[in-house]
Amino acid sequence: MRKPLVAGNWKMHGTRSENASLLTQLLDRLPEAPAADLMVCPPFVYLWETGRMLKDTDVALGAQSVCAEPLGAFTGEISGSMLLDVGCRYVLVGHSERRQLYGESDALVARKFLATQAQGLTPVLCVGETLEERESGRTTQVVERQLEAVLSVSGVAALGNAVIAYEPVWAIGTGKTASPEQAQEVHAFIRERLKNLYGSAAEEIRILYGGSVTPENVEILMACKDVNGGLVGGASLKSDSFAKLVCYKKEK
Ligand code: PEP
Repeated sequence: MRKPLVAGNWKMHGTRSENASLLTQLLDRLPEAPAADLMVCPPFVYLWETGRMLKDTDVALGAQSVCAEPLGAFTGEISGSMLLDVGCRYVLVGHSERRQLYGESDALVARKFLATQAQGLTPVLCVGETLEERESGRTTQVVERQLEAVLSVSGVAALGNAVIAYEPVWAIGTGKTASPEQAQEVHAFIRERLKNLYGSAAEEIRILYGGSVTPENVEILMACKDVNGGLVGGASLKSDSFAKLVCYKKEK
């Protein structure tokens, strides 16, 4: 059965010295056999150094985004092969901040997903609805559209090397969390869609929940049947809260 994954998205936070002390404290606090796999996504410029600090640990390195193109005249962009070269294993694609603040369309997200997998890296495909979409009853419609946009170009086999993250936009960085019922409802919907396409192997796909996950709410959210870990922003910037998130007990 799949092991949960807890991923820390540092967004545009940190300095070299803050990262070093965060990681040292985090590694000190981790139990020998954490209940979940762990991953951190620092800003691009800190990937290499963070990767070196994580060498010989069980904490994986992830990037927050990737260029859809493999190489060339794309000023300011970072390719999948560069991410592989500095030790990344995962890449976030379609984070709502990329979609909303930088205008990333479903089609671009799909190309980034492909660019990630082309390097053997694992995309963490983020999907989720805005408050307005939820309140107008369109949550599953939006999530389905975001999933289909990727799977229609990647093909279903791509699910064998992918993680999905359900992140309701209204819960990201707001302190508002989806209730366990709200989270499970959308996770179950995603699982069902994946099963229709991918058969029973869809049970193995990790579907993370993201949106103001904290040590206080992690157990109740992770207890949901179809929640297989978390994508965490704010709480991943403090070693004590992040370490607690990997140590939650899964009770079903
Ligand atoms: C995120 O960045 O994906 C996220 C869920 O942030 P936060 O935990 O701060 O809501």
